[in-house]
Amino acid sequence: MEPNFSDNESNNEHDVVIQPEDIKPITDPNCAHHFVQDSDEIGEMVAWVCNKPKCGRGVFLPKGVTIT
Ligand SMILES: [Zn+2]
Repeated sequence: MEPNFSDNESNNEHDVVIQPEDIKPITDPNCAHHFVQDSDEIGEMVAWVCNKPKCGRGVFLPKGVTIT
């Protein structure tokens, strides 16, 4: 899947940082989230999961994106 932004074609390395606060917890509303990269990959997406035992929140992020 190629993005549709014609002015962005040469910029495949995005230095995007997602703050954990931006991702709402599912099972633990107080979870501060500690995301670790998982082994799952779908195309250009990589799985990240919260390693807190009560949470287990998972997200797929484009490769190169880092959660701090
Ligand atoms: Zn969490």
